[in-house]
Amino acid sequence: MAGNRTFTMIKPDAVENGHIGAILEQINASGFRIVAMKLTQMSKRDAEQFYAIHKERPFFGELVEFMTRGPIVAAILEKDNAVEDFRTLIGATNPAEAAEGTIRKKYATSIGENAVHGSDSDENALIEGDFHFSGREQF
Ligand code: GDP
Repeated sequence: MAGNRTFTMIKPDAVENGHIGAILEQINASGFRIVAMKLTQMSKRDAEQFYAIHKERPFFGELVEFMTRGPIVAAILEKDNAVEDFRTLIGATNPAEAAEGTIRKKYATSIGENAVHGSDSDENALIEGDFHFSGREQF
């Protein structure tokens, strides 16, 4: 079953801009079941840990600053082929390169402030979901 789950965050920009409802609706309409969900805010330490893989990248400081500046919606989603299908649904990292109709194309404003996160592998989906949710918060 692990292969059928992915982890997402509606990032601070999309929350600030009032897009939570529209994004959740598109996720639902695309066949994902919500396994866990909450509105929360990451501390600097949380964001540094969550994005540790990017710590040598020049944009790391900017990324941590952005991801901690306001609340996010964190969620675990379930669907056949969840990781890949969700990456298709959100579109390319840079909204300028994202396909028409994708969540990033519609709601992201820049490569940094790109509205949503989607796990890039089954292994990371599990790690990221467990980072935000205890076992009894996952249904
Ligand atoms: P993703 O898997 O599509 O989210 O992309 P990456 O794993 O490459 O990057 C993680 C996150 O870092 C992205 O979603 C962006 O929020 C941010 N990011 C990536 N590239 C840049 C950049 O060039 N500048 C800034 N400011 N942020 C970036």
